[in-house]
Amino acid sequence: MKIIIHRGINQIGGCITEIATDNVRILIDLGQNLPDREGIVNDDLASREAIAKITQDIDAIFYTHYHGDHLGLFHYVPDIIPQYIGRVAKQVTLCKHQQLSYIKGREELSKEEISKLDRMNVLISGLTVNIGDIKVTPYFVSHSAYDAYMFLIETDGKRILHTGDFRGHGYLSKGLLPTIKKLILSQTKVDFLITEGTMLSRLNERVMSENELQREAGEIMARYKNVFVMCSSTDMERLASFYAANKNLRNRPLICDHFQKNVLEIFTKSAGDHSSLFCFDKVYNFNPKNKKLIHWMEDKGFCMFVRATDKFKDYYQTLVSRLDLKDTVLIYSMWKEYINNTGKHAMQCYIDFVSMFPHVEKLHTSGHASPEFLVEVCNLVNPTLGIIPIHSENSTNYSKLPIEEHLQQRILISSRIIDKVEIILS
Ligand SMILES: [Zn+2]
Ligand SMILES: [Zn+2]
Repeated sequence: MKIIIHRGINQIGGCITEIATDNVRILIDLGQNLPDREGIVNDDLASREAIAKITQDIDAIFYTHYHGDHLGLFHYVPDIIPQYIGRVAKQVTLCKHQQLSYIKGREELSKEEISKLDRMNVLISGLTVNIGDIKVTPYFVSHSAYDAYMFLIETDGKRILHTGDFRGHGYLSKGLLPTIKKLILSQTKVDFLITEGTMLSRLNERVMSENELQREAGEIMARYKNVFVMCSSTDMERLASFYAANKNLRNRPLICDHFQKNVLEIFTKSAGDHSSLFCFDKVYNFNPKNKKLIHWMEDKGFCMFVRATDKFKDYYQTLVSRLDLKDTVLIYSMWKEYINNTGKHAMQCYIDFVSMFPHVEKLHTSGHASPEFLVEVCNLVNPTLGIIPIHSENSTNYSKLPIEEHLQQRILISSRIIDKVEIILS
């Protein structure tokens, strides 16, 4: 058997992992590199030819979740290769690509993306998919994308746990350790742990829980009447935090655009069945011509989900003359580095958008596992042969984590063969 990390050893974007036996080859994620400051993607795999080459003889592709750094290259994949993604994740991604199809000049590309997505097979937590002699079982994880999975891969008498992106401080994190204990380790040991290490380059960052974030959001909303919120439109748990905080204030409408409303409807119909926290049932679609809604907003205040686009700049300009600026705030709920002008992760359109607002409050918590949680998961899984940290700008920092000593020896940062398994770290 081979485990090949094509990309992701010392970068966060563009994750691609391959598991291969003598008979079958599968990929976990086919991600695109992250965009630069101007939003331009530099990725030598972002073409039909390059993807045809890397996916030659690949029997199936499994996506952990819908973020571009894991899913971004799906539309280049030839139709004969089956692709798998979570059932709700597929709906959210379709919704996003339908929205993108309205952008001028993108019609053809969107048509292709939507047709590829339509053909995707869906994953259900705990249900095994067999691809030749490789068994893949998805298990639900909490992440800043809903319906995200880690994968247990079983083949050649070996078991590999690929965590994807995950965290321990979300509303939906509670099940993770019990799942590993009861469903994965109760059968037999895990041999290799392939795990994300996003926060390894941010070892001293304090991580607050999604619950704490909800409380702090409520405090900001109590101080300001007019609240704009900039957060990921597909991060269900974050949207729920702001929705709940706003609901507690009573009578302030929750406003968003048509696309965000559609995404919230998908979440309400799926996760809303299990928890009222994810029932986004009172949401209003903003329309500059809807005088009644605007009067309500002026009168009682509001919470409005916004994105850094021209449309939302226009909406803000429509509203700003009617609002008391002393009472108006933007809650910026994304990674702080995107708006750090001098940092290497700065996004110009985010910086421009945020600069329109009279007051900005930063309120965010990571979608990724804190160093403490990485330690807990690693010690619990206790893999017998190796630990491969991926999705990190600093994978070698994994050895600084206080994991058990025998596990320290199993961290793999260069290619080698272990117990007849060839590990290739590109
Ligand atoms: Zn992600
Ligand atoms: Zn990621």
